[in-house]
Amino acid sequence: MDRPVRSLRDELHSTAKGSTAFDLGCALDRKASCCEGIGYRLQPRGSLTHAELCHCVQECASCFGQNRRVVDGVAKTCRSPAPSRVVTLINNASLPARYSAARLDSFSNFSGNGREVVQRVSTWMREFDAEKPRGLLIGGPVGVGKTYLLAAIAKNFASRGISIRFVDFFQLLLELKAGYANDKNDAGLLGEMIDVEILLIDELGKGRNSDWEASILDQLVMGRYNRNKIIVASTNYDLKPNDRVAFGTNHLDDKKPSSFDLDRFESLEQRVGARIYSRLFEISDFIELNGEDFRKRSLQEKMQNLRPPRKNS
Ligand SMILES: [Zn+2]
Ligand SMILES: [Zn+2]
Repeated sequence: MDRPVRSLRDELHSTAKGSTAFDLGCALDRKASCCEGIGYRLQPRGSLTHAELCHCVQECASCFGQNRRVVDGVAKTCRSPAPSRVVTLINNASLPARYSAARLDSFSNFSGNGREVVQRVSTWMREFDAEKPRGLLIGGPVGVGKTYLLAAIAKNFASRGISIRFVDFFQLLLELKAGYANDKNDAGLLGEMIDVEILLIDELGKGRNSDWEASILDQLVMGRYNRNKIIVASTNYDLKPNDRVAFGTNHLDDKKPSSFDLDRFESLEQRVGARIYSRLFEISDFIELNGEDFRKRSLQEKMQNLRPPRKNS
């Protein structure tokens, strides 16, 4: 009774092509609250972020989760990249579970220059050109939200169908070392790090800075550099070139550092060497993030709550 009226032409056309009468549209187009229309959901699983296709896509009456449907005899793709592809990319990325909900627009440490940094990162991501890619290095003290930003960036790239790999630099060294001890060569894991489209390195420069570690870093950075591939990284070390780091205070202006943070007394250039530093500098944007250490702040808040309420005298 309530069926919409179709013209004779539509009717003949659809009969000729033998398709169903109406396109219901994909569940993705309805932006259901289950996944806000992205078609997949993320949750912590063990130490990593796990992605899976949302039930709204799996049960879509139009495409049955295939991301493809026939409209008037013509095959149509529901969404590009397919949510199932994004799911695979995220599950191959080794994203830490702690940051599964990270999003640029949910960044909340604005005690320093966070607002400005989020803006700059958004612009950098929007302007990202796979043909002429530019990397990104986020420097700053402990606890200001660098890893959070890295995870948000990783998820954004995955949603655009770009392959990503997230790695903690120190952890990578440990894994390579373990492989070494078991007589395996570095080629497998290291090769994976060199091949992936976007490599995200947390805590770049952390380690003992041995010759072996330096050679790993060299293979990693130069391997990607030679393939025109970028690195997105965070580091606790000072991003400024050596000759501009005022050692001892770590500040070009006369402000004293608010808390003692040993890493900030060394520069990234010192840690990774002039050659690697200059390559990174050449192919990346450098951004300094500053602000309060959110871990310390939340600890202080907890301590505050533990104190008994003051009596009025
Ligand atoms: Zn569908
Ligand atoms: Zn959904």
